[in-house]
Amino acid sequence: MSLKKVLVTGSSRGIGNSILEIFFSKEFIPIGTATSNIGVEKIKQNFIDNNVQGFAYELNLDDKNSIDNFFAAIKDDDLNPDILINNAGIARDNLMLRMSEEDWSEVINVHLTGQFKLMKNFLRGMLKNKWGRIINISSAAAALGNKGQSNYVAAKAGIEAMSKTLAREVGSKNITVNCVAPGFIETDMLKDLDKDYLKMITGEIPLQRFGKTEEIASLVKFLSSDEANYITGQTVHINGGLFM
Ligand code: NAP
Repeated sequence: MSLKKVLVTGSSRGIGNSILEIFFSKEFIPIGTATSNIGVEKIKQNFIDNNVQGFAYELNLDDKNSIDNFFAAIKDDDLNPDILINNAGIARDNLMLRMSEEDWSEVINVHLTGQFKLMKNFLRGMLKNKWGRIINISSAAAALGNKGQSNYVAAKAGIEAMSKTLAREVGSKNITVNCVAPGFIETDMLKDLDKDYLKMITGEIPLQRFGKTEEIASLVKFLSSDEANYITGQTVHINGGLFM
């Protein structure tokens, strides 16, 4: 059986790093991305430290040239992914009245438009192989709404709707498309949030803690496995019971 190529965007840290690492095994060729050369080198070092044959590229989803260069490089290296995990993300929070159009556009570009471009670009190879797995990282916030996150929540809800649509378009070709919607997970994304707010939220989570990046990675790996062959068009929530 040939090795499966797994692309995880935004895998220099946080959830993406754990997702990339869960594919460090002989069955997969892991491919990571970061926005800077420093991030790319960090991913490459992780491959070396774990004795893994992997690849890493620079990719900024808010920059058309960066996306075009990334597509060209990955094509040159003949690495069209069999499993695409759209994880890269940012937050630019503010109440709607104070939100700048720049912050609106950046979040929509990185999440919604970025995921669209990646899926569109890599779909042809999956269709040719008559096999593919696409997993898009959404957020519990898309279902709950979240004060100060109109840009982020709109992007994530859009991703979920877009994923259902693509699932219908490509299901007959043995390609599944699903979303994973995490609740609060311990990463850099939480580090700027108010400590009292985080304490209050912890109290509202039935499991009384934030999630770990490895817990998201396990679910993503399951959805990309043969055990999940009959699951498509779904958003799977993972949030310690915060949203049910
Ligand atoms: P994180 O720790 O802040 O890491 C973000 C990753 O995305 C980094 O690898 C970063 O690369 C990359 N990235 C940032 N801006 C980018 C851009 N413009 N183009 C391409 N890549 C970019 O974030 P995280 O918490 O792991 O979040 C990962 C995903 O989970 C996101 O989609 C997020 O919305 C979602 N999520 C997170 C939580 C949570 O509580 N943490 C909850 C729900 C959903 P650099 O290292 O180069 O900056």
